[in-house]
Amino acid sequence: MEFEIKCSACGQSSPSLLSYKCSSCGKPLNVLFKSSFEIKKIQKHDYTVWRYAEFFPYAKEAEITTLGEGWTPLTNFSSNVYFKLENANPTGSFKDRGSTALISALHTLIKKTGGYIAEDSSGNAGASIAAYAARAGLKAKIYVPENVSGPKFNQILFYGAEVVKVSGSRRKVAEEAQKAEREKYYVGHILHPLFRDGIRSLAYEIAEQFSWHVPERVYLSVSAGTLLLGVMEGFEHLVKSNIIASIPKIIACQTRQVSPLYHRFKNLTYIPPDRITSIADALVSVNPPLLDLMVKHLKEANGDVVMVEEDEIFNAFMELARKGFFVEPSSAVAYAAYKKQLKNEEVSETDRTVVILTGTGLKTELKLG
Ligand SMILES: [Zn+2]
Repeated sequence: MEFEIKCSACGQSSPSLLSYKCSSCGKPLNVLFKSSFEIKKIQKHDYTVWRYAEFFPYAKEAEITTLGEGWTPLTNFSSNVYFKLENANPTGSFKDRGSTALISALHTLIKKTGGYIAEDSSGNAGASIAAYAARAGLKAKIYVPENVSGPKFNQILFYGAEVVKVSGSRRKVAEEAQKAEREKYYVGHILHPLFRDGIRSLAYEIAEQFSWHVPERVYLSVSAGTLLLGVMEGFEHLVKSNIIASIPKIIACQTRQVSPLYHRFKNLTYIPPDRITSIADALVSVNPPLLDLMVKHLKEANGDVVMVEEDEIFNAFMELARKGFFVEPSSAVAYAAYKKQLKNEEVSETDRTVVILTGTGLKTELKLG
């Protein structure tokens, strides 16, 4: 086998593509891709994630479910700053990379049993998984908090997923989605290893778009950690394969309200707020199950974590919009962190820098005036 799915904690091998956590200790699973990255194996005519199909061997060619995700623009913003426009993905966020990998690998398997997939998210991931399930002709049930509304929820409804409203805490929503039922396959994007694995493609793209001379720094917003871990694993794979010499310095960016990674990384105590009121409303994971893995990867690769304040996020969001980049406030967190480091002289203007803009501004509930 070219790949193996193993527990990130106890190392036990997982026999099924359908598992979303270790059957022996309950910790997160990782996909270990064993072959080297080779430039000649890129499908150069294909301008989607599947240009790198060779490196995602669990998805069979005939079963690939795509909406044209990936190969998003890398645009020069100013001098050495580049934006990776993940807002240009089909459902408006980077999550489509995870969904295309996950749904491509599983839809035939699940349809054969007459089953359906279950996910808990009323945000970008819920919308993305609903879209890819629709494309694959696979039934999806999306579990959401009772009072959910807004553009992302609207998107889920239009894609035709069945919505299950759950009263109580966000944790209760996840428990309901995970509760074992006949014909139900839980594919929660935070835990399922194939979702996170699809995000590896983002690192390959950045490297290829820079002709394999990777930038010095990459800034990205962090909530549950799928973006951070996917991107790091992609760059680590390129290093191991001798395609690039070293991994760029990865800067994980968090809001003050939702900053468990910042606090753990800096050995500080984190006390989450009673209620999250940040305008960066896609960043909500106060107790992410992937926290240990994030810290491990960032420490090993000499990365860093930056925390930004509400006014910094709003200013960054407005600056981006006024320069033509209409992204979610949650995406602006990464740009706000870059600006903060620039102001504090922790980064040089001459460093080649990529800021990942994760989602479209059309999804924001923020209103002017
Ligand atoms: Zn385990």
